[in-house]
Amino acid sequence: MWRLEVPWGEPARLTAPRWMSGAEIEQVLEEKRAWIEKERARQVPRLGLDARDVSESEARTAARELVSAIAEEEAEPLGVSFARIHIRGQRTLWGSCSSRGTLSFNWRLVLAPYEVLDYVVVHELCHLREHNHSRRFWSLVEQRRPHWRAQRDWLHEHGPELLAFRPAVSQSCRGGLKMSTSSVSSSASAACGRFGGMTSTSPARTSTTSSPSSPRKKRRQPSRT
Ligand SMILES: [Zn+2]
Repeated sequence: MWRLEVPWGEPARLTAPRWMSGAEIEQVLEEKRAWIEKERARQVPRLGLDARDVSESEARTAARELVSAIAEEEAEPLGVSFARIHIRGQRTLWGSCSSRGTLSFNWRLVLAPYEVLDYVVVHELCHLREHNHSRRFWSLVEQRRPHWRAQRDWLHEHGPELLAFRPAVSQSCRGGLKMSTSSVSSSASAACGRFGGMTSTSPARTSTTSSPSSPRKKRRQPSRT
């Protein structure tokens, strides 16, 4: 019914159905205050990323080169072909693929270990054969990348920090907020690409708390999707 998220570097967010009253929302936030604080306490930067050291445009270029090279190499053994590769600034996704064969990847993958980026590319390519996360899909991934679980675990552990990363000087206005609406994959896309990211599915109403220590200071926002 409701969902509470504590995204890195952003206020906690409560997505509640329309019928929930303000008092009920207050109550949830009050009850979850300790949980919010616990989540926040876990959000210690560990990747050693310095926002001043990263140029988004350079990172995007590097991501495109790496992703393209891997995709071209893997397409043949997988027996798939793709139409295009997009490098994006999704806020909650690492990669996605559309039914038309367009693959999209988050430029921040270039800041992850190479094996992680590699896994995400292979994962999306596998979706061109299996448009789901069925057992068949995972066995396909395993054929190509026997150690994929380690990369998935890395994304699970460090993904939220990486997704929240914003370069100090954005050299590309294509990233950031404007792209965020594309983070929830369109219905035509294979349901894929959620490696530890979070997507809001049906936020009828969203409350935002400004900080974990003051969950009462909420305000309502239009839905994100
Ligand atoms: Zn997937």
